[in-house]
Amino acid sequence: MLRKDRFITTSFKSSTNSTQTPIQFVKGVGPKLGTVFKSRNIETVQDLLYFFPRTYEDRSKIYSISRLSDGLQATLSVEVQSQRQIPIQKLGRTLLEVRCTDGTGSLSLKWFHAPRGMEKKFIPGAQMVVTGKVKLYQGRPEMVHPEITWGVDLAQGQLEAQPHVGRVIPVYTEIEGVSTLVLRKVLWEAVEKFGNVLIEDLPNYLLERRGLLPLASAVHGLHFPPEGKSFNLKDLGEFNTPAHHRMIYGEFFKFEYLMLRRRLQEERASSPFSDGIRHRFLGKHGQDSLNRWLSYLPFQLTGGQLQALQDVVHDFSEPHPMNRLVQGDVGSGKTAVAFLSAARVLEEGSQVALMAPTEILAEQHFKSAFQLFQGRLNVALLTGKTSAAERKLLQERLSQGEPLLLIGTHALLEDPVLFSRLVYVIIDEQHRFGVEQRRTLRKKGEKQGPRGQVTLPHSLILTATPIPRTLALTAFGDLSVTSITELPPGRSPIQTRLVREPTQRERAYEQIRQELKAGRQAYFIYPLVNESEAEGFTQLKSAVAESVALAKDVFPEFSVGLLHGKMGSEEKAQMMSQFQSGQIKILASTTVVEVGVDVPNATLIVIEHSERFGLSQLHQLRGRVGRGKFQSYCYLFSSVRSQPGVQGASHRLEILEKTYDGFKIAEADLELRGPGEFLGTRQAGGLPFRMADLVRDRQWLFWARDDAMEILSKDPDLSKLEHSSLKEYFEREGGLQFDRLNTS
Ligand code: ADP
Ligand code: MG
Repeated sequence: MLRKDRFITTSFKSSTNSTQTPIQFVKGVGPKLGTVFKSRNIETVQDLLYFFPRTYEDRSKIYSISRLSDGLQATLSVEVQSQRQIPIQKLGRTLLEVRCTDGTGSLSLKWFHAPRGMEKKFIPGAQMVVTGKVKLYQGRPEMVHPEITWGVDLAQGQLEAQPHVGRVIPVYTEIEGVSTLVLRKVLWEAVEKFGNVLIEDLPNYLLERRGLLPLASAVHGLHFPPEGKSFNLKDLGEFNTPAHHRMIYGEFFKFEYLMLRRRLQEERASSPFSDGIRHRFLGKHGQDSLNRWLSYLPFQLTGGQLQALQDVVHDFSEPHPMNRLVQGDVGSGKTAVAFLSAARVLEEGSQVALMAPTEILAEQHFKSAFQLFQGRLNVALLTGKTSAAERKLLQERLSQGEPLLLIGTHALLEDPVLFSRLVYVIIDEQHRFGVEQRRTLRKKGEKQGPRGQVTLPHSLILTATPIPRTLALTAFGDLSVTSITELPPGRSPIQTRLVREPTQRERAYEQIRQELKAGRQAYFIYPLVNESEAEGFTQLKSAVAESVALAKDVFPEFSVGLLHGKMGSEEKAQMMSQFQSGQIKILASTTVVEVGVDVPNATLIVIEHSERFGLSQLHQLRGRVGRGKFQSYCYLFSSVRSQPGVQGASHRLEILEKTYDGFKIAEADLELRGPGEFLGTRQAGGLPFRMADLVRDRQWLFWARDDAMEILSKDPDLSKLEHSSLKEYFEREGGLQFDRLNTS
């Protein structure tokens, strides 16, 4: 609301030619069509102009009927010869058939449910242009449901005045209730009439530096590519033309500017520690205390863990809050870094929150922290199954300011959870959370000082899914990064084997049997909980059914347990502890064990239908083994065959067979599946790019990033004249207020 009002007072008054004009003012859009557009969030001319084509179709070539072949997508200029309507009794409909000619032959056009009255237009002798896919029916060409353009006489050179034929035309994502023709026509009108009033929002010198088209010509070129340009249909289809580059760069640039600006703001917030406390993290006191905690651990930290811990402790001593990502492969020991840094904060008298994505993981963390702290420091657990009475007690402890490490699931995010001295938040397995959830937790420790100064808690994010560089610059652009690149000593790399069904299954079972006999344990992972979930995927195996089959038919000599998300938390915890203690040898499970779970004696993981999982997810699952001193194995079962020349599922799985490098796997995943896997399954919408693609357009991202960084350092509040239109853009579209970020 606010956004619109403000806009009306600033630029709407200037002319009816504004891009904020409601779309009813576009020729051809009446109230009815307007409502349809509105339902798709297209309300103004600007919204319309930014409704970009999905792809393009070449209609610059006019075919003659004699040269049509089966399957060809063709445009022809023809004259109506005759028509007939054939009732189809069975369906209670009429088939409309129109015969036409261009002098070289005869073409039949068919409509199976022609709207009433449609036939009236096809008067013998009328000229029209038809476009559609050719079908040869008994050797004669016909088109079913072709697109018709009236009133264009190609011989008369009327091409300029219409958008439908004789050119490369845009193809839009369909809007229900608007025909393709009407949509194209409306866009044509909008671009013709309003295209030139688009306000250029990027500074001129950036356009020049990057060789970019001005906004108005880019938008024009996107919808109706100019003829005779050096780019072809392929470039257009791949969004690889100057017009596309302009929009891609613009999207990246604005995003990066906002991201970097937010980072700057956060970096300027105050540390939650007073000067006195900040001091205590470094120097002798800090070092002694850390050493003491290190001596409580049952192992020595690796160099990578120590470095990460040093980074965090160093950040604690800074005047501004930490915002750090620690990425390290599964099993690299990130938990220890989290616990030790938390211990230091608790010792200094404050509260820490650690959020994990599943109850199993939260409980496991709670147990390990409890063991490590041994009553020296307080730790508590909050999950969905914490009773109301326990919650109340916990709430009291928190509000009284007791120094406490609170470990929990999403339950931590709920409103009634109030900390009084939350200075440090840790998020484990960040890919399971969205950006907003991270912020919500952090906000619980936000404070406003008397002079408006904001204090934010330190924030540490742990991930085993490495962030590809493009994403590190976008979705995670506000984080400092530490990488743990080594695994604790004594771990031999997990052997990964692609097991092709059905031929190799038995042999794999035998290998597994040998390991189980030697005392090891195994996970069997299934895509479904039970068969009723299958809906159309009936060939898929489910954890419930297979746990029975495993116990009965395959491994009758070993105990088999079952774990899945639909079990109660009590049941789940019990099962996990039976597996942990070795009472149960085989755990049939869904991906609930995907993150974090740590049972060092489990050295086998079998993943059924592995082609159905993302690479990073498989890598995570694989990380459940290889956590102790024994050689571990991962079996990827798949019945999908490789096809020559097709980079399908089997090709993806081979990547896993060959590498354990999480970075390579993540990059491959980003290329194959897009950013979803990294941004968190629960993060609605993902990144706000309409046109830009992180993989395809990464070079533009790097340039945009550099330029945004430069502007932020030269003119952070955009107060220079050359940045005035950019500033207006952000005020208008983003509701930004620029007086807040004073650099003085
Ligand atoms: P992740 O980084 O995947 O979260 P964890 O923190 O769960 O890894 O650690 C994996 C296992 O390795 C745990 O059993 C943990 O106790 C153990 N571990 C962690 N650091 C070391 C170390 N430096 N030396 C030996 N074992 C370690
Ligand atoms: Mg972990």
